[in-house]
Amino acid sequence: MARFLEFAEVADKVKATSSKNEKVSLLSSFLIKLDDVELPIACRYFSAYLFPKWTEKEVFAGYSILWNIVVELCNMRGNELGEVYRKYGDLGDVVQEVLVKRVVQSLFKRELTIAEMDRTFDRIARLGGKGSLDVRRDMLRGLFLDCSPIEAKYLVKILLGELRIGLVEGLVEESIAKAFGKTLEEVRAANLILGDVGETASLVAKDELDKATIQIFRPTNFMLAETLPTASAIADYYQKLVYAEQKYDGIRAEVHKHGSKVKIYSRRLEDISWSFPDLVQAILKIPHSMILDGEILPVKDDAPLPFQDLQRRIRKKVPTKDIMEEVPIVYKVFDILYLNEEVMIESPLSKRRKTLESLKLPAKLSLSHIDTVKNAEEIQRAFEHSKELGYEGLVVKDPTSPYWPGRRGKYWIKLKKELETLDVVIVAAEYGNGKRAGVISDYTFAVKNNGELKVVGKAYSGLTDQEIEYMTERIKSLLIEDHGYRMIVRPEIVLEVAFDAIQKSDRHDSGYALRFPRIKKIRHDKSADEIDTLQRVKDIYNMQKGVKRDG
Ligand code: AMP
Repeated sequence: MARFLEFAEVADKVKATSSKNEKVSLLSSFLIKLDDVELPIACRYFSAYLFPKWTEKEVFAGYSILWNIVVELCNMRGNELGEVYRKYGDLGDVVQEVLVKRVVQSLFKRELTIAEMDRTFDRIARLGGKGSLDVRRDMLRGLFLDCSPIEAKYLVKILLGELRIGLVEGLVEESIAKAFGKTLEEVRAANLILGDVGETASLVAKDELDKATIQIFRPTNFMLAETLPTASAIADYYQKLVYAEQKYDGIRAEVHKHGSKVKIYSRRLEDISWSFPDLVQAILKIPHSMILDGEILPVKDDAPLPFQDLQRRIRKKVPTKDIMEEVPIVYKVFDILYLNEEVMIESPLSKRRKTLESLKLPAKLSLSHIDTVKNAEEIQRAFEHSKELGYEGLVVKDPTSPYWPGRRGKYWIKLKKELETLDVVIVAAEYGNGKRAGVISDYTFAVKNNGELKVVGKAYSGLTDQEIEYMTERIKSLLIEDHGYRMIVRPEIVLEVAFDAIQKSDRHDSGYALRFPRIKKIRHDKSADEIDTLQRVKDIYNMQKGVKRDG
């Protein structure tokens, strides 16, 4: 039976060394000695959490309750504790120092084992109802009375969820691997799926890693996306047909449903079902066991509301009826990990998407919008469409990809913002086509370079009809040469243009061309001598090459 004191002593040693290897050695030699009850508990404590992240269990022991217990046990006056706290800035370290001078002593000290700690935390977490506050306080106080100063230090640190001994969960994974002769990759893969380092350690120790799989009501870590700066970079990377999904700005949520039970988990794998009773009700109507991945976003009359509205709604644990009406939500589903006993994470996204499409979803849930795209132009168009609807951009996904719990990779690539903008001046213009045949709507523009103007592109989009009418008149008034459909004009109208990328090109005399330029604004406030330089164009070009190389 491992004592909690041993845990505390190992933790102190881990803190004392700055060598990662040594930390891992210390930890692994400790873990290997533990029995199968103690091992998962110790691994969680070393990762600074009390219970599996997905449980609803909570001990509710924050700063103030711990602070008051310590003040009482040490018979401290005034702001004595505050003064020591200022010296350390960590309540655990403070507690170790002040408990050495403890006044209130326990007559019969329990010897605390790791398992006993867990049992006590579990009992506290189960408290509820009238008077439970006092009972919780008494039980915590009892724990402190049984602790030596070093144990009390780690009791506090674990309760507050921060060990501050230079240990991250990754090193705990490494120690588990070392202790039981597995590779870090194997342990990490299991931990990403299970979302609990304790259960991971148990399976590793029993040599049962093959059992590390998705299970209902055990949230798994979310798959993540990488970023590329432009539609062209994404198209260049995939060079095949891909899904361009709208990117919603809400809260990532994993939904688990089985029978009459529904749970919604956050990105940190915490149970957030209480905040969304309306969604829980809707999900209950779906007649399947399933795990879905998606984004909860605030939507009214089919248009997204600002993210702040959602924050307002979740500030209270249980939302009021009023706020639920004021900030209605929708769950945009973009993945399915499990359906009626079948784990789907190995299936290609195309199959998972088809499965999703075959489900009948109630109104509060809807599938993410997907465009199947094959080149930069189509990705760009989908991006602009998504922005026009008030969404954040795109997540472009490989239809052949599996669901990769907890991993960030190029199976999913997000496209969020445009590159910087350039201020340019119009040097030539043309009449448009189709419905724009009678107005001058195509503008050739330039940047400056040592007293000369150098053309970097042509833009057709971004202005309203009214603005185009204004431009038509203005351009006629600046006419220098009229070549029929094409007019050379005095360089006076300054535009702010956004673009997707800068390419080298011999089409224009600058040697560069903007890709997918769009007019953001007519800069009435700027004159032609304030426009950007060719040097800036070159700088952005080089920067973007760097981004591509690294990405
Ligand atoms: P970011 O937070 O900028 O790193 O972008 C990734 C996040 O975008 C994900 O974690 C999701 O919460 C969110 N997201 C919104 N829409 C989608 C979508 N269609 N597919 C995947 N993730 C999405």
